Amino acid sequence: MDITVIGCWGAYPEKNEATSGYLVRTGGSSILLDCGSGVLARLQNDCPLEELDAVVLTHTHADHIADIYSLEFAMLILMQIGRRTRPLDVYVNGDETDKLAFAYPDYVRVHSIGAGTEIRIGTAKLEFAETVHDIPCLAVKLTLEDGKTLVYTGDTGYCDAVIEFSRSADVLLIESSFYDRQAGIMKWHLTAGEAGRIAALAGVGQAVLTHFPHYGDLNQLAEEASRQYAGLVRLAYCGMHIHI
Ligand SMILES: [Zn+2]
Ligand SMILES: [Zn+2]
Repeated sequence: MDITVIGCWGAYPEKNEATSGYLVRTGGSSILLDCGSGVLARLQNDCPLEELDAVVLTHTHADHIADIYSLEFAMLILMQIGRRTRPLDVYVNGDETDKLAFAYPDYVRVHSIGAGTEIRIGTAKLEFAETVHDIPCLAVKLTLEDGKTLVYTGDTGYCDAVIEFSRSADVLLIESSFYDRQAGIMKWHLTAGEAGRIAALAGVGQAVLTHFPHYGDLNQLAEEASRQYAGLVRLAYCGMHIHI
């Protein structure tokens, strides 16, 4: 499984970068986890849009879906000019499907997912768990035939469900929206220390912090997570490649 960080910012993208978007290529399939602001332009560095198989949306906040409608137009154009033959599969939490407003259903197929749902895209198995967020949000687990796993938390506050869902993941891609000094400021997101604690309690192989704030020294996030978790902690960056 090869994971490429397309965008790693919370809320809005830094200059020439993107908010949440993670490309997973496995067994010949290309799966995009979230499609935030700036993702579509950067995605094409790593995945021709003709080859994109599916998009999984953790929730409908703009920093996770802002580019999905431009991607719909891309599907329309590419299919009309014959460069693509199949619509794009878009998976979204069943509670949120009515918040999406696709105009061209011939080009985008929307599928409802939820906690307990299990789907297959190519050779990857995908499962989901509800997180603690101010709107319904799903964490995503991808499992390969060889048993290797990636868990992406989406947006979440601290909760046991995410720890359990992340148990023994090879890579935990975990939101880290705040510094430890801001603990308690927002219950719908994690501090870096909380992200580290989840990684430790879940016994993951490595933690990749993401969904960053636009202030402070991001290296401090890694330090704060490392105080809680003895394993490898890395900061996501646009263009980062992770191989499992
Ligand atoms: Zn977000
Ligand atoms: Zn959110």
